[in-house]
Amino acid sequence: MLRNDQMDAWDRENFFHPSTHLAEFARGNLPNRVVTGGNGCHIEDRNGNRLLDAFSGLYCVNVGYGRQEIAEAIADQARELAYYHAYVGHGTEASITLAKMVLDRAPDHMSKVYFGLSGSDANETNIKLVWYYNNILGRPEKKKIISRWRGYHGSGLMTGSLTGLDLFHRKFDLPLTQVIHTEAPYYYRRVNLDQSEEQFVAHCAAELEALIEREGADTIAAFIGEPALGTGGLVPPPAGYWDAIQTVLNKHDILLIADEVVTGFGRLGSMFGSDHYGIKPDIITIAKGLTSAYAPLSGSILSDKVWKVLERGTDENGAIGHGWTYSAHPIGAAAGVANLKLLDDLRLVDNARDMGAHFKQALIDAVGDHPHVGEVRGEGLLCAVEFVEDRDSRTYFDPSRTVGAKVNAALLDRGIISRAMPQGDTLGFAPPFCLTRAEAEEIAAKLGDAVKEIL
Ligand code: PLP
Repeated sequence: MLRNDQMDAWDRENFFHPSTHLAEFARGNLPNRVVTGGNGCHIEDRNGNRLLDAFSGLYCVNVGYGRQEIAEAIADQARELAYYHAYVGHGTEASITLAKMVLDRAPDHMSKVYFGLSGSDANETNIKLVWYYNNILGRPEKKKIISRWRGYHGSGLMTGSLTGLDLFHRKFDLPLTQVIHTEAPYYYRRVNLDQSEEQFVAHCAAELEALIEREGADTIAAFIGEPALGTGGLVPPPAGYWDAIQTVLNKHDILLIADEVVTGFGRLGSMFGSDHYGIKPDIITIAKGLTSAYAPLSGSILSDKVWKVLERGTDENGAIGHGWTYSAHPIGAAAGVANLKLLDDLRLVDNARDMGAHFKQALIDAVGDHPHVGEVRGEGLLCAVEFVEDRDSRTYFDPSRTVGAKVNAALLDRGIISRAMPQGDTLGFAPPFCLTRAEAEEIAAKLGDAVKEIL
């Protein structure tokens, strides 16, 4: 086994960590953590620390750590057949079973699933398919994609462009020109504080409509959105938002892509965020919760309406020219099958709903009245606490004070992993669905102490 000092040196010399201040890491000013194990909601590191992971890794280990059923399914698949491709009609029992299980759980009008590896590549697939769709329908000008400010859809060229967070564009020459952004459904951060929720929803719909009219509906192919905003602040939408948005999109014949990479498979306490909010998407993006991150796998679930046009396209043009070597990778598919079974067997989506309500209340009880807590919000097991300098005016703290990061660190000192979200002083919580009452209360109580220490 490597000595700790050797491991630290190798890490800093060789390893390009994603989403990291590279120079600070290389200088040794950012701590590293070598994670060695996990069980339930906890992880362990090489130094013997046991931490309660209230963010499920990157909100993906939904069934919790250490699930032997999934590990066994992966091992069995690897022993039997580690890989075969899915091109030209090939498959494995795992990939065919998983496709059926996904469609059985997806909203009724969905018809097929394409498997990729990550949320980013699934969204890249979606945009290509939307462009293909409009080419087959003889409307080659209808290509722009509308996304929301604060939306997160990945880190590729197109998906990084769809992402509406400055950090992911900075110095990367993004966004690409085919992408346009509209208002985020972030009621707490509305510009006009006099607006009711209903008025704010009408405002978001009017902004969308104005954008469509400005650009021309015949140039716009699709709208992409997370049912509840994730990385942009963990923000459930105001009531009526999705109805209002869908009315505008239907009027202008614009496809709707529901990016359910975070919300898919139970995070909001319903199997899909689309069910939760009455969204009727043309395409649904899935990833994280599909395998609970036990192996990389993502997917694009297509409605019958989209699928029929793709079929027609191949009659006219031959086989569809899209696919990854690792599409529907058998090991990922085996993990997915075992993971979805576990969700059902342990009724984990119900627990996400019930424990989510309890957890949110515990957070409100712990910090809701603090003068620097602007909002505690959440749906299912996706919760956030937003800090403000001043509660009445909702003024942000000066970014140089890094309040969110400091509370995050104070909580880590107490053995709890939360996530300082990249925008504003928002602390995110998205624990595994096996969270217990005692764990929910422990997180909330320690957050109360951390907030007291920092603010
Ligand atoms: N879409 C959403 C809503 C996400 O939250 C993420 C990742 O967090 C992605 C897409 C990108 O997924 P990946 O990081 O697997 O590429």
